Parts: sequence; C-alpha cells; structure tokens
Amino acid sequence: MDKNDYMQRAIDLARTKMAEGYYPFGCVIVRDGEVIGEGCANVGLEHDPTGHGEIVAIRDACKRLKTVTLKGCDLYSSCEPCSLCASAIWLTKIDKVYYGARIEDTLVLGADFSPLRTEVGKPINDRDMPAEQVLGDQGRTLLEDWAKVIQQDQALQAVMQNMIE
Ligand SMILES: [Zn+2]
Repeated sequence: MDKNDYMQRAIDLARTKMAEGYYPFGCVIVRDGEVIGEGCANVGLEHDPTGHGEIVAIRDACKRLKTVTLKGCDLYSSCEPCSLCASAIWLTKIDKVYYGARIEDTLVLGADFSPLRTEVGKPINDRDMPAEQVLGDQGRTLLEDWAKVIQQDQALQAVMQNMIE
C-alpha cells in the first residue's frame, strides 16, 4: 500500500461512517506499513467537541500500542488538521501528516477553523477568550510535588521526557 491507498482508506472510512451519524473526517495512522489506529469524527454521536477524526485515531493508536507517543508513525487525514488536532499530532511526535481537503474547504460546511489557529498562537492574556490566574502558587506547588514523584519513578521520567523532547 502507498500513501494514496492509506488516504483512500481514511476517505472511505469517513464516507462509510457518515451514514451512521459520524462527521466525515476520517483518519488512519500507519507504522511500518501497518494501520495501527483509525477513527472518524464522533463529535455529534459522543457529544464530544474534541472528537475530531485525528484525535479519535490517535487515541485508538495509543491505546493499541499502550503508549503516549507515536514516533515512527504517519497520519492520514481526509482533511487538513485543525489547531486542536495539530496540537495532538505535535504532542504525539507523529513523523508526517498527509491530508486530503484543505482546512479552508470546511467553509462549505459553515465551519471556519482559521480564528482558532490565530487565537491559540497568542499568549494566554492576549487571547480574545478572557483568562485570569487564580491560586497560582498552589498550582505551581502541585507541579513541584509531582516533579518529586517523577524523580522516584523511571517509567514516569521516560514518559515526561518523551513529551518534551
Ligand atoms: Zn481537528
């Protein structure tokens, strides 16, 4: 199978699942030529605003592989990932993204993801969404306490190292 075949699988998945109430955003994750995760947007079915195709597929792949990083994997999405999904892809260290439709093509659905891209790139206090720090000392102490736990746990150290590399 080549990149066209994997993308075709993502598109076919979306087309098939659309009849079941899923939104037509399909995604397939591939490692060494094997599909190790796939999913379709279940936002409406699951009442999950984060249930985008890429997120569903990443969750599927990570559960199957019992990992939180997907190095060595490629992601095929029937549509260019939005900022939410791009963040998840970045966190999981996926090697390469292949996309079908452009994000601008979602305008035909009345969905405009471009403000999200601009908004999340700003520092928190510069965003349109109001934000305010509350109990910052306690929040920071919580992290410091967790850091002490991590220092005693090599498995957790490995997970945290993978997340920040
Ligand atoms: Zn998305």
